[in-house]
Formats: sequence, C-alpha cells, structure tokens
Amino acid sequence: MSKLFRDRILPARCPFCRAEVPPPKEVENGLWYDFAGAFCACGAAFAHDPTARNGGAVLLQAMLMACEGDMEQVLSLAPEEDYEEGWVEHYNGLTHRVEPNAFGTLYFIRRRRGG
Ligand SMILES: [Zn+2]
Repeated sequence: MSKLFRDRILPARCPFCRAEVPPPKEVENGLWYDFAGAFCACGAAFAHDPTARNGGAVLLQAMLMACEGDMEQVLSLAPEEDYEEGWVEHYNGLTHRVEPNAFGTLYFIRRRRGG
C-alpha cells in the first residue's frame, strides 16, 4: 500500500465535534431500528447505511435515536432550527474507517438544545 493511499484512510469522526465515534452496533430495544447505530460523546446520534441505498430510512432512524424513540417528537422537529444533519461518506463498517473505496455512509443527527 502506498503512503498516499494509506494517508487517506481515516478514523470515522463526528461531523459536529470532530471526535472519533464508536463503531455502530445493533441498537437495542427498537422495532424500528433496522440499522446499526451509536451515539457520539457530544450527543449526536448516528446510523450506518452499508449499501448507500437506504439513505432516507437510515436518516430517519438516526432522528428517532436522537429523540429517544419518540416518533411524535421526530415529526415535530424543524430542520436547522431543532436539529442538525451531517454525514460521513466512504465509511467501511468492517474496519470502522473512512476509506476512498468504501461506499457506506454514516448519517448523523444532533439536537439543538436550549432554544
Ligand atoms: Zn460529536
């Protein structure tokens, strides 16, 4: 592997606080949760789309996780005002790294707090 290529393999980082995030894993206690997900230390919820085809559903799951599973709350949120969206492309779920050739995506939602 060339140095150039190796340098482009990066840890997966939260788009909001830039901290390295834990690997997504099966989310417990949710009929809704079809995808692996986890939380960043800053409170952002994220879910993993391994196929690059599930975008909307994965984003919805991240929102639901950010709202502690409360769908009514999800539907009451206004974009930008109540939450921020972010994503990490080229994510490889097997290595938990961002790699040029990977095609998974992590979708992040962070609630804005305190108005
Ligand atoms: Zn974060």
